[in-house]
Amino acid sequence: MHGRHCARRGRQRSEGPLTGRCEHCEWYAIERSHAAMVKSYQDHLREEHPDAWVRA
Ligand SMILES: [Zn+2]
Repeated sequence: MHGRHCARRGRQRSEGPLTGRCEHCEWYAIERSHAAMVKSYQDHLREEHPDAWVRA
């Protein structure tokens, strides 16, 4: 009846900065949201890896 002492440990940081890495080079970015991360990565691909960007 007293087994809920660990309930708070299941809470992950859901609003912390996200780190995204490029699979083609050493580029990475830190954004606050997944949407921002996707946009940054798409911009990077378009500029640095146009071939990969076209296929994505
Ligand atoms: Zn890259």
